[in-house]
Amino acid sequence: MNNQLPVAIIGGGPVALSAAAQLTKREISFVLLEQGTSVGASVLEWGHIQMFSPWEYNIDSAASELLAASGWIAPPKEDLPTGKQLFDYYLYPLSELDQLKPFIKTEAKVVAIHRQGFDKMKSAGRDKVPFEVVYEKNNNIYRFEASAVIDATGTWNTLNPIGASGDYANQEVNLSSHIHYGIPDLTVAHANRYTDKTVAVVGSGHSAIHAILMLHELKLQHPGTTIHWILRKQAIEDVFGGGELDGLPARGALGSRVAKLVKEGVVKVHTPFSIQALERAGEKINIIGTGTMIKQVDEIIAATGARPNFTFIRELRYESDSSIECVPKLADLIDPNIHSCGTVRPHGEAELRQPEHHFYIVGAKSYGRAPTFLLATGYEQVRSVVSALAGDWDSAREVKLHLPETGVCSVSRPKTAIKLSQPSCCGSEPLNANSC
Ligand SMILES: Cc1cc2nc3c(=O)[nH]c(=O)nc-3n(C[C@H](O)[C@H](O)[C@H](O)COP(=O)(O)OP(=O)(O)OC[C@H]3O[C@@H](n4cnc5c(N)ncnc54)[C@H](O)[C@@H]3O)c2cc1C
Repeated sequence: MNNQLPVAIIGGGPVALSAAAQLTKREISFVLLEQGTSVGASVLEWGHIQMFSPWEYNIDSAASELLAASGWIAPPKEDLPTGKQLFDYYLYPLSELDQLKPFIKTEAKVVAIHRQGFDKMKSAGRDKVPFEVVYEKNNNIYRFEASAVIDATGTWNTLNPIGASGDYANQEVNLSSHIHYGIPDLTVAHANRYTDKTVAVVGSGHSAIHAILMLHELKLQHPGTTIHWILRKQAIEDVFGGGELDGLPARGALGSRVAKLVKEGVVKVHTPFSIQALERAGEKINIIGTGTMIKQVDEIIAATGARPNFTFIRELRYESDSSIECVPKLADLIDPNIHSCGTVRPHGEAELRQPEHHFYIVGAKSYGRAPTFLLATGYEQVRSVVSALAGDWDSAREVKLHLPETGVCSVSRPKTAIKLSQPSCCGSEPLNANSC
């Protein structure tokens, strides 16, 4: 690596900051660019949500060392922070450290990255020229050279539409004033919008469950609030998770709590329901599925996941899995068609390596559309990647990761590479069993 030039870290989320801490520890210079007004901009958008992993799993080891040296006291490791607390007690103090702060640029949106003077097609000598990172700040365009690029831009900025085919449903764009993409803060900011309204939550992941649980809290005070839950799953039981078997009790409890509401009939479940179109019905909307319809809905909460944005790296030689849009070598480890358990085989630089030398996609973006990413995974990813950039290949190859399992294996037969005779997603064969 050309050590005269900094490593460019794109994004200012937890994984990007972890990369900054790892580079600092290795005395490698970096520039971190975050498009939001502060680091953790995406985390703050779901700042009202309590995380299901305790602090123990949410803090990177290199970051913790740097913070501790500045007098920072780590939060109790068993406590569950909200997204806002993750920012207040960890991300912000980390970004303010003398070793990091001068090299962090906020309100700096990366719009393009390429090899200087080389378009994507030109090969000879490609690896010998630096990257050029182009970013937008205060309506101006700036450029700088970098020796390596770590793309940790997450997926939160490109939330999925509600159409069953992955595209916008017919009229979805025209009726978007009735739709909130993500998880609205129902305690304060958005409560009025949903009070005594008929609300449809679309999606089957933890975000959808969070939204339903918050709507239920609202309904306890405002019984006129009606909750519909729209899913594509064949059976509602498929989304409840491992309950008490979950290695992260708070994650298991999410499924158990919503299962109780479904059982009590508080939530009207529509599954399988494939949204094809929306239509205006006076002040309200109708949601049209295949051969079925939910009428007179006031608001939709779209909690249908997110997808990575590749537009600014299109002049780099990168690969993504054709279905999950994750880093290709991770596909069989995280494909939700294969398994749902939280255990992912330890992986690092070798799995994350891209055809473009010294370019890596890490963090939530490395998982593409798969919803199971955990911070602890991202921290180990960047530790390994930074070790490789430092030339410490022993450390890069020695990846260690222990993740708490969800307690559930939804599908028993892996697609391709993982053979059942080997330890599979759960470390054991999920044959004849629902649980790992
Ligand atoms: C509601 C919710 C709850 C979660 N709970 C947990 C949990 O309990 N435990 C757990 O381990 N994980 C949890 N996750 C999953 C995951 O750990 C988080 O999504 C985490 O924030 C991912 O970190 P990241 O650094 O990869 O990406 P992000 O946090 O998404 O950060 C990416 C950053 O890049 C910036 N960016 C994007 N594009 C550009 C650009 N072109 N130029 C400059 N900057 C850019 C964004 O503004 C953003 O700040 C949760 C996720 C959600 C949504």
